[in-house]
Amino acid sequence: MSARHLLRQFDGRLTRELLLEPGKFGLGKFPARFAPDATTSMVCGYCSTGCGLKIHLQDGAAINLSPDADYPVNLGMACPKGWEALSVLNSPERATTPLLRGGEGSGAALQPVSWERALTTFCQRFKAIIAKHGPGSVAFLSTGQIPTEEMLLLGCLAKFGMGWLHGDGNTRQCMATSVVAYKQSFGFDAPPYTYADFEASDVIILVGSNLCVGHPILWERVLRNPHQPKIVVIDPRRTETAMGATHHLPILPKSDLTLFYGLAHLLIERGWIDQAFLDRSTAGFAEFRQFVAAFPIERVAAETGLPKADIEALARLIHEGKRVSFWWTMGVNQSYQGVRTAQSLINLALITGNIGRPGTGANSITGQCNAMGSRLFSNTASLVGGRDFSSVEHRAEVAQILGIEQACIPASNSLCYDQILDGVKAGKIRGLWVIATNPAHSWIGQAETQQALSKLEFCVVQDMYRTSETAQYAHLLLPAAGWGEKEGTLINSERRLGLMKKVARAPGQALADFAIFRLLAHYWGCEAMFAEWTDPEATFRIMQRLSRGRPCDITGIRDYQMLDERGGVQWPLPAGELDNPALAARERRLFEDGRFYHPDGRARLLFDAPQPLPEPPDEQYPLLLLTGRGSAAQWHTQTRTRQSAVLRKLYPREAFVEIHPADAAPLGIAGGQQVVVQSRRGRITLRA
Ligand code: SF4
Repeated sequence: MSARHLLRQFDGRLTRELLLEPGKFGLGKFPARFAPDATTSMVCGYCSTGCGLKIHLQDGAAINLSPDADYPVNLGMACPKGWEALSVLNSPERATTPLLRGGEGSGAALQPVSWERALTTFCQRFKAIIAKHGPGSVAFLSTGQIPTEEMLLLGCLAKFGMGWLHGDGNTRQCMATSVVAYKQSFGFDAPPYTYADFEASDVIILVGSNLCVGHPILWERVLRNPHQPKIVVIDPRRTETAMGATHHLPILPKSDLTLFYGLAHLLIERGWIDQAFLDRSTAGFAEFRQFVAAFPIERVAAETGLPKADIEALARLIHEGKRVSFWWTMGVNQSYQGVRTAQSLINLALITGNIGRPGTGANSITGQCNAMGSRLFSNTASLVGGRDFSSVEHRAEVAQILGIEQACIPASNSLCYDQILDGVKAGKIRGLWVIATNPAHSWIGQAETQQALSKLEFCVVQDMYRTSETAQYAHLLLPAAGWGEKEGTLINSERRLGLMKKVARAPGQALADFAIFRLLAHYWGCEAMFAEWTDPEATFRIMQRLSRGRPCDITGIRDYQMLDERGGVQWPLPAGELDNPALAARERRLFEDGRFYHPDGRARLLFDAPQPLPEPPDEQYPLLLLTGRGSAAQWHTQTRTRQSAVLRKLYPREAFVEIHPADAAPLGIAGGQQVVVQSRRGRITLRA
């Protein structure tokens, strides 16, 4: 397609012809795909639960939605965010046109410019920084909120097409520790479970997870369990989930690793382990047994603050349970020594043989709707398909599949999210492209981060909304379509690929991120590399080729329609395996054959001594602060959820801090009072 043709479509007027030819640039087949007043189904675009929603259409456009009763994830349920998913699309805060600081003239304000000007400026400014300071002086920060096809295109465009070295996803902030834990223990980043396991367990152990608020539909799945399960919540705080559990162990903050090593010791000492499974399917048990011998119950009780009887009782519950499942979320993922803590739970599942059977597993629940897509296909922390940038073999494989020169693929890993922001602070990263994430709000050390962002030579924000905290630091803002305004797949916590469809038009000149990436490929001059990437479904076929022969093989998925018909598909589904009843089932778990992804087929038992907190309480900062979400109606930095009047009513009007009465009394703090919370990194006034 000629540049002139592109410009005719995008220069200033979006565009009757574009809407009539929406397949171009991955804009989706709206509205031709649906009968005018039909109902269609698609997955929710907030959290990693990945609920199915029925979208009700009038004249081909979405007018309402309801939870999909046939979808195997949510079985007809949805949380408030899902119910309100359409309403947040219609907001006066939407970005509807490219905005450039200074616009066509001079001045400091963001002003509307044409797409042509925006795309040209993007390329000129980043190329100038690279020419002066090298390819390591620019980076992108991406997200777990866009479809997998868009992530794949972004990762390949930036790293193979534009020659950038650095780019990472905000998924680094939530579950990178679990990714590493699974890779090391199982040989691949592979959460083993299916949500049906919540209903099949007789003992459910939740660690650092306020499931009832963070993943309300999964909590509903727990409540549907017909086996009268024991529900154990291990959490320093008496969360809503702890209140609904049968057992709550209010552990001292960051003593979880000690508890799980101590439990392993008790189980081994009493012979409450599955020796046959250990012999057949694991490596490292002798070393592990020796290591955990240093965690007798007296030590564990002293370090965790839990009574010995409660620790013993938990060991007995695990022993007596026929189907024990271990689940964790951000309390583990975002903690100090998070990898080893996740692995200490994996170890408990392995030594007791609680894996690969219904109702069992060492199960990390992710956060964002497409965190799993980001882990496998975003080309950020790992080379696409769960490969390594540093492996010559892997680079050769990817180059061959994509038909590109191997030299285009960086031979080393990117800087991680935190290192990119450190690079911005140090003035080494001078140009930053932020896609569908909000680090000015979400990153630790907010004030310092905001100051660093303000020093960037060039900052591009690509987002649905022009009002995010990060957008305030943009020199260029690219208006993006959101959930429901474009197509692609999302992969949920239980490895299920579900479909997002275009059921609404993006406002003004906003474009699907897919379209923006394709246009940038054209303006950057690397369009030829992406000739085959014509739309999301064509890109999905590339994704399938990249997955072939990998643990996440999805070559057996016929097309998008198959995802629609089957209520999503869990990976893996290799080509030709649809006749295999185990793989064709709608709900599947991994490791049923006791074989893991390491070359010898054995899982590893990995461990390390618990380390003291790097910043323990001291005289100046005497209290520990744990963070958490207080409402199922609020999401992340509220960029989206605050657009809904209903959600605004449902979540607390102001942020609050809970203080134990024993801590509050000597400080003279009463409930409802405003207090200043100050850490080494910042200060905020909150309601106690
Ligand atoms: Fe389901 Fe999560 Fe969407 Fe709520 S936000 S409807 S739990 S996918």
